[in-house]
Amino acid sequence: MALRTIREYGDPVLTKKCKTVKEMNDRMKTLVRDMFETMYDTGGVGLAAPQVGVLKRIVVIDVTEDQSEPHVLVNPEIIFSEGEQCGMEGCLSVPGKVGQVTRPNHVICKAFNENMEPVELEGTELLARAICHELDHLDGKMYVDLVEGPLHDASEEIPIDEEEVLDEIDAQVRGEA
Ligand SMILES: [Zn+2]
Repeated sequence: MALRTIREYGDPVLTKKCKTVKEMNDRMKTLVRDMFETMYDTGGVGLAAPQVGVLKRIVVIDVTEDQSEPHVLVNPEIIFSEGEQCGMEGCLSVPGKVGQVTRPNHVICKAFNENMEPVELEGTELLARAICHELDHLDGKMYVDLVEGPLHDASEEIPIDEEEVLDEIDAQVRGEA
C-alpha cells in the first residue's frame, strides 16, 4: 500500500469526466487500497479516483470515526434521493477550506464493489452528503461551484473551547481517545 498525492483545486484532472471501469484488475485493486490509505491518512471521509489523478469511476467512503465502515463504489449511480440538508462541506482537494452546500438528506446509490459484484449503499445526513460529493468528482464537478456564500477557512469553523480541549487531552492521557 502507498499514499497517493492528492490533486488540488486548479489541477485540470479534477475537471474531467471519468471513465467507466470495465474490470477490476490488480492495478485497480491496488488503487482502491491506496485510496483508503490516503483518505484515512488525511482524515477525510471520502475520496474519488480523480483526486489521486486517475480518471476512473471509483470512489471510497468511510464516514465513521473508527474507520469501521469502508465502502468502495465502482461505477456508482444515485438511483434515489429525497429531502434536503444544508451544512458545511470540505474537500481534500481544497485543503483548509469549507463552505455551505445544500444536498439531499437521503440517497441510495447502486454500484459495484472491488470484486465487481453489484452493491447498494443507502445513506442519510453525512453519508448522503459524502456520496453526492464524491460522485460529483467523477463528472469533474467540485463542491466549490455549489457553495452558497463565501468559502471559509476551516479553522474558523472549529470552536476553540479550552475546557473541551483539556478534557480531550485528559482522555488521551488516560488512553480513552
Ligand atoms: Zn472532494
